Amino acid sequence: MYDYLIVGAGLFGAVCARELTDLGKRCLVIEKRNHIAGNVYTEKIEGIHVHRYGAHIFHTNSREVWDYVQRFAEFNRFTNSPVANYRGELYSLPFNMYTFNRMWGVVTPEEAAAKIEEQRKAAGITEPKNLEEQAISLVGTDIYEKLIKGYTQKQWGRPCDQLPAFIIRRLPVRLTFDNNYFNALYQGIPVGGYTKMVGNMLDGIEVRLGEDYLADREGWNRTAEKVIYTGPIDAYFDYCLGNLEYRSVRFENEVLDKPNFQGNAAVNYTDAETPWTRIIEHKWFEFGKDENGNDLPKTVISREYSSEWKPGDEPYYPVNDEKNGTLYTEYRKLAEREEKMVFGGRLGEYKYYDMDQVIAAALGRVRALMG
Ligand code: FAD
Ligand code: UDP
Repeated sequence: MYDYLIVGAGLFGAVCARELTDLGKRCLVIEKRNHIAGNVYTEKIEGIHVHRYGAHIFHTNSREVWDYVQRFAEFNRFTNSPVANYRGELYSLPFNMYTFNRMWGVVTPEEAAAKIEEQRKAAGITEPKNLEEQAISLVGTDIYEKLIKGYTQKQWGRPCDQLPAFIIRRLPVRLTFDNNYFNALYQGIPVGGYTKMVGNMLDGIEVRLGEDYLADREGWNRTAEKVIYTGPIDAYFDYCLGNLEYRSVRFENEVLDKPNFQGNAAVNYTDAETPWTRIIEHKWFEFGKDENGNDLPKTVISREYSSEWKPGDEPYYPVNDEKNGTLYTEYRKLAEREEKMVFGGRLGEYKYYDMDQVIAAALGRVRALMG
């Protein structure tokens, strides 16, 4: 008999398991996949830690979360600076003085600001009502046409004038020469990969892989006083109110017999015609070196294809629209009646959590459970 059964060995489950164990609770973690770490899982191919479920860059403004993760991994100084490839023209991301110089030849921040203002005025936008208008008012029509329109349409499967403005506000726009994608205070990649970091979190805790809670929930419920469930909330309720929707991504991995394919961890293909949204070259998250500092002779790349999710696909990005928000609220009401259960994490709360946010949420949840 355990105090807690934790369903899912992703970050939410692993942090809960660690904290509860350290508080003297007996925990069992079950995971339906054949590996720990959930979507931050990295697997080693040709000496390279490949991010199997999409590129993960740890970044946070929270000192508490940063200190917490240092207990389980050493972080390198990786800084995310993706490059945009528009039909062979290369631009720096996020939008900053390097991008504006390449696009317009402008040299000073005043010139860049004037160029954006001129294009915004010409488009006649005063109050942006959708992503297209928001993008043009932030960076002008040239950047919208070359770096945003095609990419966004591929990523979300619908045109920019039918998407909410807030999506693009995530991207920084700077009148400085700064290619750091994130504004966060702390950033890096765990040395040795995320799987090792989550393995350290779960050190000394019983984990059973290849076990699906929903296949025998009554049996599993008998093993513990309380259950922390980090799987999809709608699946827990047998989709009785309908499916929550997601955007999905298909990853096409390739090992190349050359040391350097694109010279950067991420290259976004921002035209509409290229079928993939971006290519990740995983070795550059760790500066092209193995753990002993040796150069790696091969490279592994992943092309990412964004797709509409259908039942059976991996759920990745929750769709933040009214329909799904309302449906989630209904599931949430059902969840509140389940006394034995705690629902948490990206799938349990149907919420786009970054890694630092999911760790903070798990720490908070354990505190709440302990009263
Ligand atoms: P998960 O990692 O999904 O873990 C849930 C686990 O529960 C899974 O292992 C699943 O197999 C298991 N499970 C589900 N149902 C059952 C069941 N019935 N029985 C047993 N086990 C079950 N965040 C960042 O901070 N930086 C990034 O750069 C970043 N990039 C991302 C890129 C992509 C493509 C995606 C999709 C997300 C990205 N994120 C990023 C977010 C990050 O992946 C999440 O914050 C984090 O993985 C959430 O952890 P979790 O434990 O809630 O969920
Ligand atoms: N975006 C874009 N061009 C790019 C990168 C991003 O138009 O080269 C847009 C796109 O709409 C995307 C949004 O900016 O959905 C947010 O980008 P971010 O990289 O934060 O997306 P994520 O994949 O992390 O959700």
